[in-house]
Order: sequence, then C-alpha cells, then structure tokens
Amino acid sequence: MIENVYRFTSHANFYIINEPHKITMIDSGIAADRDDIIELFRQREIDPYSIKDILLTHHDIDHVGNAALISDLSGAPVWISEPDLPYLKMEINRPGIKHEKEQQFPYDIPKNINIYNEEHDFNIPLEIIPAPGHTLGHVIVKYGKFLFIGDLFRINDDGKASILESKFNIDEALILESIERVSKMDAHWILPGHGNPVEFGKIDWERLIRG
Ligand SMILES: [Zn+2]
Repeated sequence: MIENVYRFTSHANFYIINEPHKITMIDSGIAADRDDIIELFRQREIDPYSIKDILLTHHDIDHVGNAALISDLSGAPVWISEPDLPYLKMEINRPGIKHEKEQQFPYDIPKNINIYNEEHDFNIPLEIIPAPGHTLGHVIVKYGKFLFIGDLFRINDDGKASILESKFNIDEALILESIERVSKMDAHWILPGHGNPVEFGKIDWERLIRG
C-alpha cells in the first residue's frame, strides 16, 4: 500500500485507488482467484459498492479475469481500449500461447464494457495513455504521481525492470517506443502488473530501452 493505492496480487497484480466513495480498480486478476479477491476486499474493507470504474490495461486473462464479477457486484463499468476489446469479448482468439491460456482459465465476459475515449472524465483525475506493444491496445493509467503500467514491462525480484518474454508480446519495437515515452513522464511510482512497485527514479531507463 502506498498512500491510498493498494496492490493485490493474483496471478498478476491489480490495484485499487481508494478515494472515499470513488474507488477505481485497475486490472482484475485471474478468474480462478475470484474467492481470494472477495476475501481480500473484505479484509481491507473495500466496499464493492464504492467501486466506480474498472480500468483494464490490456486484454490478457490474468488482468481481465474478475472484471465481470466486480462489475456485477459494484455496477461499475469496465473500460478497455478498442484494439483489445474483441479479445476481451472472446470474438477473436488471443495469439499464440495466450490462446492456450484463455482455454485453461475461462472467465466471464463483462456485460458493461466501455471503450476509452479522450472526452470521458472519470470520477477521479486519471489519464489513460496508449502504450502499445505488449498488446496492440495496451494502455497505462496515470493518477498523479502513480503510473500503473500493466505489462508494458515487469519488475523482477531483484528490483530491475525488463520487458516480458517475447512469446507474450505482440510487437517489441512498439514496446520500446512506449517505454521511451513513459521514461519522460513526470511520475514518482511505477506500479507494474508483475513484480513489486518501484520508484520511477530507480529504473535504469536507458538499459531498459537500449537493452
Ligand atoms: Zn499481459
């Protein structure tokens, strides 16, 4: 927990921004962990009815798995980018190994899905920033000094950043371009989909971008 931002770890991390009566959820873990998530919410006194938005960084099953559950509990809409929407809705098979995973870890498709658009103002000040490469529609979420980076890159056990294994990425050149843009942003915390949060200034951006 950093200030009012809570991390939960399912197969992947997901996050709660806990503003009074205006909770925002970023990603939602894997469907197999639904009971654990409900228990975690209970332990941390997260009231599902206070969840106002469920933001998905991308379509992978370990990020979208409980979006329908939380959306049904809270009434909150689920948000995703247009390029990633058909995968969330299972209208297109996920590529490569991700197709095996979607068969192995089935999830419910949310009923209330919105597509990110620049005109929309969320309940709290948030910026949705396209950061393609891991998936084509991958986005990151900026909340003040917090950057929720999804799977743009991961943080390893030694605290170092690296991009995910090739088989999980759709376009690594695009990832590096996205990371380069992120490296110039004004932020204090990097909150990854995999690994522990790290301070922005502790990341060796040059090594990450140039390999
Ligand atoms: Zn992913």
